[in-house]
Amino acid sequence: MARVLFINGGAEGHINPTLGVVQELISRGEEVVYFSIEAFRERIEKTGASVRTFDDQKFIQAFISGGRDYLLERINGLLLTADIVIPSVLEQIKGEHFDYIIHDSMFGCGRLLAQILKLPAINSCTSFAQTKASFDQMLEQFSIQVPAEMVKPISDKFQSLTVMVKEKYDVEIHSPYEVFCNPAPLTIVYTTKEFQPNGEAFDQTYKFVGPSISSRTTQENFDFTAIKGKNPIYISLGTVFNQAIDFYKLCFEALGNTDHTIVMSIGNKIQISDLGEIPKNFIVKNYVPQTDVLQNTTLFITHGGMNSTHEGLYYGVPLIVIPQSADQPIIAGQVANIGAGIKLQMQSLTANQLREAVEHVLSHSSFKEAVANMRESFRKSGGYQQAVDEIFEFKSQVHI
Ligand code: UDP
Repeated sequence: MARVLFINGGAEGHINPTLGVVQELISRGEEVVYFSIEAFRERIEKTGASVRTFDDQKFIQAFISGGRDYLLERINGLLLTADIVIPSVLEQIKGEHFDYIIHDSMFGCGRLLAQILKLPAINSCTSFAQTKASFDQMLEQFSIQVPAEMVKPISDKFQSLTVMVKEKYDVEIHSPYEVFCNPAPLTIVYTTKEFQPNGEAFDQTYKFVGPSISSRTTQENFDFTAIKGKNPIYISLGTVFNQAIDFYKLCFEALGNTDHTIVMSIGNKIQISDLGEIPKNFIVKNYVPQTDVLQNTTLFITHGGMNSTHEGLYYGVPLIVIPQSADQPIIAGQVANIGAGIKLQMQSLTANQLREAVEHVLSHSSFKEAVANMRESFRKSGGYQQAVDEIFEFKSQVHI
């Protein structure tokens, strides 16, 4: 048995795929101490891990204070979280021994903690993986497209934050790539090489284990008898970029009072009462047990979050993807590339366009066929069990 330190942030999309991995690690005899925020305690504890937390408000404030408009601002935000996460983790594990660390690819300063604690490290990547070359290309766009007078203060801030973190914690930071992607000797990527853009560019240290979807143990309040046999359409913009009253009303206009049954999850940032009158064929909730709902769904209108996309494809559901931010435009592009759905633009979206897109996807079997092919590759890839096989292989390589 080994002791595992698991470091994550507080984003649902970064936590869900790890739950099956942690449960599997524990069932194979590992002991896991999992750092996240209080809101996910119950969900993580159900895996058998011991949960410890850092201050979620301070963490989010620090991240946001870096700025949200540009990639390098988000990198600065991640550096700003170092002072929230690192002292708190070090204090809470004082005097304890760990054999290895698994950290999120983005949140939680995992690469820095691995250096401080001198632990063999595994990177848990819940989005598409990035090579340094593909990441640097993305970053280059920022300096090409944004005026120099805006780039300079953000770049200067990156330099000064890097110096501060390096000196304070006695760590190495060589590039923005290291801060944003937290590369490690082993990276577990929860997708397949078939779905990953430029999948052939990754070396043997990247293991594409496929979607890690485990059954949810939390009890959400949802009456499944209301959708039994009705093949509903499911709409969700995920848990982060979901404050979109106009979009939800546009869905009412496009699909209200039709023969379709619609389940719509609007997130916790707005109230259901903010939406005015709800058409009779809509079931609107702040949160639904998505993986269960998808098993009954005929079409998923999604923001293209990595987890939602994987979950839709895994359960054989064609997608209409309306990306909001972050990696979602790239994911939407991949869905369209493989023929598993279509991509729409939020800014110019009309009710007519959405209605036509729905009818188009529902009436062309090619979408379902493309989804079935991807589903097959997902199901063969092994998911969280394969992830743990790879982790154990890594352990034997580094003599743990
Ligand atoms: N989710 C859910 N119920 C909801 C909305 C979201 O269970 O009503 C889950 C969903 O199954 C997925 C995660 O929240 O696992 C959202 O992650 P994703 O990467 O799709 O998007 P994000 O929320 O990070 O933008």
